[in-house]
Amino acid sequence: MSVFSHKHFANHENVHFHHDKKSGLKAIVAVHNTNLGPALGGCRMFPYATDEDALSDVLKLSRGMSYKSAMANLALGGGKSVIIGDPKTEKTPALLHAMGDFLESLGGQYIVAEDSGTSVPDLQEMATHSKYVAGIQSKMDINGNAISGDPSPATAYGVYTGIRAAVSFRYHSNLNGVRVAIQGLGNVGMYLAQHLYDAGAILTVCDLDEDKLNMARIRWNANVVRLNEIFSADVDVFAPCAMGGAINDDSLAVMKARIIAGAANNQLAEVRHDQTVTNKGILYAPDYVINAGGIIDVSYEGADYNARVSRQHVESISDTLTEIFERAKQTGLPTKLLANQIAEERMNAKKVTLTGEVERVAS
Ligand code: NAD
Repeated sequence: MSVFSHKHFANHENVHFHHDKKSGLKAIVAVHNTNLGPALGGCRMFPYATDEDALSDVLKLSRGMSYKSAMANLALGGGKSVIIGDPKTEKTPALLHAMGDFLESLGGQYIVAEDSGTSVPDLQEMATHSKYVAGIQSKMDINGNAISGDPSPATAYGVYTGIRAAVSFRYHSNLNGVRVAIQGLGNVGMYLAQHLYDAGAILTVCDLDEDKLNMARIRWNANVVRLNEIFSADVDVFAPCAMGGAINDDSLAVMKARIIAGAANNQLAEVRHDQTVTNKGILYAPDYVINAGGIIDVSYEGADYNARVSRQHVESISDTLTEIFERAKQTGLPTKLLANQIAEERMNAKKVTLTGEVERVAS
């Protein structure tokens, strides 16, 4: 298994491998870029078929976090971690403590948050062994209600504001009567559906889980379709909120939506699909720009957390997207390419010292 010559290596600053024999932990932490600050990114636990699969995943995700934080105007770099194992059967307190020890040994160059396969309680276990853990503090939302460290509501709100910006840019309208197809009613998809419904959007949804679909029918009068029918749904906006790779040759061949804007990471199956989307006249909100709400909110975590300030920052996603859409209109270039260029300019412009402490991340 190559590392330096790996196709996704992308000039990573550090890639750390760790094995703890006692707990069985096998983990990789990838730190892509710390020019703008310490690397913050989620920990994914997944039963990867091979070590190579785990390395590819962590390298791709880590690089993506550098771009996401740069585009979200955060003083953070990009990193990610993976634990190789089945979260349903192999996750133990001892394994999570060993992960905490691993994080602590890295001295703050990487700060962990949750990702698929890990949850806030898992991170709280890690935090008993490391201070480099984010997204675990209970806090008050903008209405004064207690909320957990779960980033999903903020992610969904950011996606919602992004969809609003895209619809305004393309159709010069608000969301009333706009038809949106949501692929995946998970942590993010559910909150997103509620925001869209409240704004008057008409929803088409799909998921693997029948209970969620029934809830969507009752709560939002949603039109439920089969998994493979979501791509060709007669809608204005397609919002991928399940797995990566939803934008591919097959889905684009049948897509009626003129806007793609959703929460999923790595939505383009291949880099070339950025151009294909542009050629088809579809307005694409680059994934890591529109889904940055969660990391923005997590970056504000601390004793002085202010829901209003965090929310305003999340809302700035719509301005960033509008700027990208304007540039795309002027240049004819694909939106993700433009986002990458802007993020790289920001990453390369500045070098800040590591604070090494979670509390100071947002400062
Ligand atoms: P989740 O696991 O809670 O939800 C995913 C949902 O998609 C589940 O309900 C699942 O049943 C459904 N699903 C799986 N395969 C599907 C398919 N082929 N068709 C339709 N539905 C399918 O995940 P989440 O936290 O809601 O995140 C959704 C996406 O957004 C992921 O790609 C994630 O990486 C990305 N994301 C999430 C956050 C966050 O704050 N949670 C932040 C940034 C990006």
